[in-house]
Amino acid sequence: MISEEFLSILRCPLDTNVPLRLDQPEAGSEVPALVCTRCSTRFLIHDSIPNLLPEDAVLPPDCRDLYQLPCQRRSGRA
Ligand SMILES: [Zn+2]
Repeated sequence: MISEEFLSILRCPLDTNVPLRLDQPEAGSEVPALVCTRCSTRFLIHDSIPNLLPEDAVLPPDCRDLYQLPCQRRSGRA
């Protein structure tokens, strides 16, 4: 389980000003995830270890490409 303290220091890897929130499914097969409060990208948590690699993240349904994300655009990196 991710502690509140740990969660409070986590930021979206695409924009380090944006905090993440914990999305903990009640039950079932869904994997818990950290969700960016801005771009809604989901970073899945396996065995209590969040995978914050943008390449492995689950993009929001209306976004086809990592580079279309609001966080990514704002950062202005090539
Ligand atoms: Zn983001």
